[in-house]
Amino acid sequence: MILVLVGILVVAVPAYVAFNWVVASTVIQLGTLFAEKQVLYDRHRGLDALMREVSLADTLAGSQSIRDWANDESNETLKRRGIAELEHFRQSFSDKSYFFVVNSSGNYYFNDASNSYAGDQYRYTVNRDNPRDAWYFATSALGEGCHLNVDNDANLRVTKVWMNCVIREGRRVLGVLGTGIDLTSFIQEVVNIPQVGVSSMFVDRWGAVQAHRDENMVDLRSLTAEMSAKRTVFSLLDKPEDQVALRALMDQVAAGDAGVSSRFMTVGGKETLVGIGYLDRLGWFNVTLMDIDAIIDKRLFLPIGLLLAAVAGLVAAMLLLLFKRQVLDRLKRLEGAVWAARAGDYAPALAMGTDSQDEVGRLSTAFADMALAVSDNTRQLEARIRERTEELEVLAFRDGQTGLANRRSFIARFADAAASGQRGLLLIDIDHFKTINDTYGHAAGDAVILAMAQRISDSIGAGGDCARWGGDEFIVLLQDSAPHLLRAATYGLMAAIVDQPIALPDGRSVSVTVSVGACLIMPGDSMDDVIEMADAALYVAKNEGRNRASIMEPDATDGRHAPTTGAL
Ligand code: GH3
Ligand code: MG
Repeated sequence: MILVLVGILVVAVPAYVAFNWVVASTVIQLGTLFAEKQVLYDRHRGLDALMREVSLADTLAGSQSIRDWANDESNETLKRRGIAELEHFRQSFSDKSYFFVVNSSGNYYFNDASNSYAGDQYRYTVNRDNPRDAWYFATSALGEGCHLNVDNDANLRVTKVWMNCVIREGRRVLGVLGTGIDLTSFIQEVVNIPQVGVSSMFVDRWGAVQAHRDENMVDLRSLTAEMSAKRTVFSLLDKPEDQVALRALMDQVAAGDAGVSSRFMTVGGKETLVGIGYLDRLGWFNVTLMDIDAIIDKRLFLPIGLLLAAVAGLVAAMLLLLFKRQVLDRLKRLEGAVWAARAGDYAPALAMGTDSQDEVGRLSTAFADMALAVSDNTRQLEARIRERTEELEVLAFRDGQTGLANRRSFIARFADAAASGQRGLLLIDIDHFKTINDTYGHAAGDAVILAMAQRISDSIGAGGDCARWGGDEFIVLLQDSAPHLLRAATYGLMAAIVDQPIALPDGRSVSVTVSVGACLIMPGDSMDDVIEMADAALYVAKNEGRNRASIMEPDATDGRHAPTTGAL
């Protein structure tokens, strides 16, 4: 899980860098788009207002009655027709005003929206020496067509664009007429964009600032001002190469190659996006300076960043959860089953079953199969061990030759039955057995041992436990005995043994006798004591001539055991 988290972090760092890069380039693209659209929009708004006025003024300048009057200014008839034409057009101009200067006399005719000069349109005569009239002489020298002149009146805060249409006949100038249009509101609207980080301005073809939010930047009456005295847009740029680039952009948009162009330049020490458009009829450029960092707040992208981070976090969490559930938990269960199986508990392993067919599922299934095989095997082995153990137990507690209990079995039996009342113990030894072996052979001796075991167990029956004590010695434990019962059992046994000769394998037969040492066992007597006593009794019986029994009984007078020997 830690590795998964580390992996996600390793991916997250370059992703963060890439995200920042995408944000930055998106901001630049959006900013550029915004700047260029803004420039285009301002350009169209500005031009639309002008175009209509220019067309009207141009039509008026082409009017024959105006030309006739200009050729013969003092002719009253021509004058009346000319004035009528001017008054007619005045109604159509948005400013509801016109001016007309007759070149030959320099007479200036004018009427305004409130028709202040009806019948008295002559106002004054332009004079080459008057600087205020310089615009007329500059314009008339420009040649046929309509020329626009922008007049910013800083005191009135009014910006008027004058459409000055030159009327010529051949090379001779007849006069200049036109109208004005107030662009103040339009310009103020454009340059006074309240948006932070954006500053718009209008500049003329020389880069002189015509309209700017800061009036100190505005260069008045650019048509007549000296170039050196102009405040230009170039002076705003810090780097000479940017000034060259802006000039190139202006030429580009002025040539009509692009409606709008933009480029990053350094303005006041700051990287600024400079957008530029051309208002061809005015000969102006609208320039927009944009500090895109101020316009497009990068925090706008924060929700997207957070969303991406949240999605990445969620994916990581889901991966971890999935990994935990699909792999870790199942492996843990499998591990538990392995440990349980190791401890001998196969139940968890067998319960694993087949949950799915993926790697862990197949491993679990394989392990369950293996556990089943191992548990079956174990069960079979255990069963066989149990069988073998039972067989071994039989062997361990039985005398293989006679089938009687052996000495170990007898000792255990003695201990088991210890608590109850009086019991009897008989130690039986075959007389002169060596001689039988010597005379008849070892096989005959074995046959005698077998027959002896049979006769002893038949004689005792269910009343006691018979065992082979070793060699030619047998031992009998009588339950619920008493002196007379002990005696009866002892002599009954001896009689049963000597009753018939024993048939030998070779067809002969032999008569065998035994000597018996017997004693009565009182509750609490130890096995060793009792055996010792019976041994001593047997010794007495042998000593006194064999084929007899010696029975230890408590003496009537002192309570001590004393042997009583008797032959059959
Ligand atoms: P005693 O009357 O004093 O008991 O004389 P004995 O010859 O029987 O002497 P003892 O009891 O000391 O000898 C036992 C002999 O029995 C010794 C051994 O060779 C023989 N013997 C012990 N077990 C077997 C057996 O399973 N088969 C055969 N053939 N002989 C055995
Ligand atoms: Mg013997």
